[in-house]
Amino acid sequence: MTVEKFIPNQTTTLETPVKVLEAGRQQAGENTSSNPAAKIGFVSLGCPKNLVDSERILTQLRTEGYDVVPTYNDAELVIVNTCGFIDSAVQESLDTIGEALAENGKVIVTGCLGIKEDEIREVHPNVLAITGPHAYESVVERVHEHLPKPVHNPFEHLVPDHGIKLTPRHYAYLKISEGCNHRCTFCIIPSMRGDLVSRPVGEVLDEAKRLKAAGVSELLVISQDTSAYGVDVKHRTGFWNGMPVKAHMQQLCEKLGELDMWVRLHYVYPYPHVDDLIPLMNEGRVLPYLDIPFQHANKRILRLMKRPGSAERTIERVKAWREACPELIIRSTFIVGFPGETEEEFEELLDFIREAQLDRVGCFAYSPVEGAKANDLPDPVPEHIKQERLARFMEVQSEISAARLKQRIGKEYLVVIDSVDAEGAVGRTYADAPEVDGVVHLNGVHDVKPGDRVWAEIIHADQHDVWGVISPEDDEALDDETTA
Ligand code: SF4
Repeated sequence: MTVEKFIPNQTTTLETPVKVLEAGRQQAGENTSSNPAAKIGFVSLGCPKNLVDSERILTQLRTEGYDVVPTYNDAELVIVNTCGFIDSAVQESLDTIGEALAENGKVIVTGCLGIKEDEIREVHPNVLAITGPHAYESVVERVHEHLPKPVHNPFEHLVPDHGIKLTPRHYAYLKISEGCNHRCTFCIIPSMRGDLVSRPVGEVLDEAKRLKAAGVSELLVISQDTSAYGVDVKHRTGFWNGMPVKAHMQQLCEKLGELDMWVRLHYVYPYPHVDDLIPLMNEGRVLPYLDIPFQHANKRILRLMKRPGSAERTIERVKAWREACPELIIRSTFIVGFPGETEEEFEELLDFIREAQLDRVGCFAYSPVEGAKANDLPDPVPEHIKQERLARFMEVQSEISAARLKQRIGKEYLVVIDSVDAEGAVGRTYADAPEVDGVVHLNGVHDVKPGDRVWAEIIHADQHDVWGVISPEDDEALDDETTA
């Protein structure tokens, strides 16, 4: 989608982990349909950062011999990895815990909402245990207490080196840090996940290398604040392949760029040193794609949000980035109806998006999050005005997005295939991140499979997606260029 409302429930269902694990079993030629292992149901809610936590928990459980099953009935215990970002996400998490309790009865809760143990226990006093976000060891310990480790491990040889992934084989999230040092007033993530803790640079690069060896061709670099990578360790020098590498976003990107994969940067906070990434995009080391949440354009609202920047300065930077790298795609998110936002300030935001001409934009109406500082701000915007502003924002951005996508018509792009169905293949170019952006429809194309890359000419566009036809010369060679 090019313009979307914030949807907190990017839910991984109970079946998803199982499907992924089953594919691994089949690849390894094992039949474990009648295995005697301890059986766990797993539900993962929330954002990609939470999904990575789920992958780590599942990897550990599988390493220990637990099986992951697709139904509440088959499970001896259910783990719910929750989201607590906004109130509707909290409600969804509580509902999911309730469903798991009703259907199964033995439930362990983990994830962001886990820090609000009292709130969970008030609604669901019978959950077996509650742990907080990225508390992998404690979740597994709680599982041991309620469902002892299997003596025989039927999956010993089935956990791949790169661990268990819940994404398709050809792309993977690479989480480079936990927590956040900022204190945006609308956000409670620092209180849930703590201050920034960067992973050692050698460890991150090793993981990227393992993912590549496992068939991943696109890395989605994520964290709460990707551009702050290494700040907490004063950009300490680590080692990788025997060479010194600093824990710094730029050096990390340079090294990731050597792996010959698509490297896509998400959640980049608009620090000045983001400018230094543009040359790496021109050199083809990282994709010319920046997911950079601006949140607002008006100086006063940004100050109230405790976010940096102002409209003029941001526009200057966007222009300079595009001048230096014309292929650059910018994705951003905004909040409308923040407490105290006046009609003039909202219109300033509309002027900003008209001028900035961003490619992909998500927008949501401000919703108070329990525990967030912004709740104490005066002059809350009435709900109907928030919704009206959201609609106006989306109307303006839809036109911009449609015009930006139209510019792709007649050009050729390298398209990575994500799925193939009766209608044809669906894929993405460098300009489209999975799950959040639009797609390329290649109707009638069936002789491809997920992960393949083909050149396609774009022949049609709407405000979200584009349609293309395979380029005649594509049969001859696929290379790593992104556009022609
Ligand atoms: S940068 Fe702001 S919005 Fe993002 S996680 Fe940190 S505090 Fe929250």
